[in-house]
Amino acid sequence: MNAISPEVAVAIAIAVVVALSLFGRKRQPKERTFKCSRCSAVSAHTPRTIEAWRAGKTKFFCNSCHGQWLRSQPQQPRPDYSSRAGKSGCLGVMALFIALPVLAVSAWWVYA
Ligand SMILES: [Zn+2]
Repeated sequence: MNAISPEVAVAIAIAVVVALSLFGRKRQPKERTFKCSRCSAVSAHTPRTIEAWRAGKTKFFCNSCHGQWLRSQPQQPRPDYSSRAGKSGCLGVMALFIALPVLAVSAWWVYA
């Protein structure tokens, strides 16, 4: 069995990357803009409307109408991931600060 030559390996790698980028690409609306179903303003698609388009929605709302719609909705308790991430990041740093001396001492203990 012959080993794969580097050129073939590189070609295969490129083919895989190209195939992944072709098939893995998310669908996008053909039009870059949409007409707001509420105020009829023509707006550019945003990640939010593209997500709605992918979900099969045919009606889109511009950002200001979406904001108004959001405000008209009853407030739902939404987990605040940003503050939680900040806390856990802080905890992670603290854990690191605690773990480092412990590791250093235990390493010294084992190898001394
Ligand atoms: Zn609108």
